Amino acid sequence: MKITFLGTGTSQGVPVIGCTCEVCRSLDFRDKRLRTSILIEAQDHTFVVDTGPDFRQQMLREQVKRLDAVIFTHAHRDHTAGLDDVRAYNYMQQSDMPVYGSEAVLEQLRVEYAYAFVEKTYPGIPRLNLHSIDGLPFSINGVSFLPLPVMHLHMPVNGFRIGNFSYITDANYIPPDTLTKLNGTEILVLNALQREQHISHFNLDEALQIVEEIRPRHTFLTHISHRMGLHADVEKELPDDVSLAFDGLKVTP
Ligand SMILES: [Zn+2]
Ligand SMILES: [Zn+2]
Ligand SMILES: [Zn+2]
Repeated sequence: MKITFLGTGTSQGVPVIGCTCEVCRSLDFRDKRLRTSILIEAQDHTFVVDTGPDFRQQMLREQVKRLDAVIFTHAHRDHTAGLDDVRAYNYMQQSDMPVYGSEAVLEQLRVEYAYAFVEKTYPGIPRLNLHSIDGLPFSINGVSFLPLPVMHLHMPVNGFRIGNFSYITDANYIPPDTLTKLNGTEILVLNALQREQHISHFNLDEALQIVEEIRPRHTFLTHISHRMGLHADVEKELPDDVSLAFDGLKVTP
């Protein structure tokens, strides 16, 4: 299995439009963060978790020629706004795109992409085949996904565990049941927005506390704001088994 970080930035991305802070002006490529998403390549199949507003650019950058399914964590726009561009895969693969998400996510997609679900559709619309997921494990093309329910203020969000790899973005609380499901995970991806407290995301200290509890072999932090600081500076402060993810980073769990 291979994981590619397509984007590691918070909802506004980094740099932020109009901001002149040192992170937004940084020339380090690791300080350029598109909206958060990963590509999973497993058993000859390719999946993305979330399709944010940068989805098209991410697919071009990573030269993704085939996409077997989209899996959603939650329905915030920074995770769903790029879904229309799966049209490219509809054309190439001559098939509908399987889309997996909780009932709440699918309901939101039917509103945001209403034109794709009307009876008389216009030619060229994205062709989506929605699959509802609950808390139970599900499998796509023989690859099994275990949902990891977490809370994002008052919104339920799904993380996902695939074998020894676990992915959690947009959380500020991990319930005890989900902590149990994370037992034995070797590679953990966890959101850490900034240093200051935040109402709906873990900050750096909180994320490091979770890492202490779960003790994965290695943790990559994602969904990062310009307020976290320069990538190079933050890296120096982190424990050996924790890194900031960056766009384009590839991991083979
Ligand atoms: Zn987000
Ligand atoms: Zn900035
Ligand atoms: Zn969110």
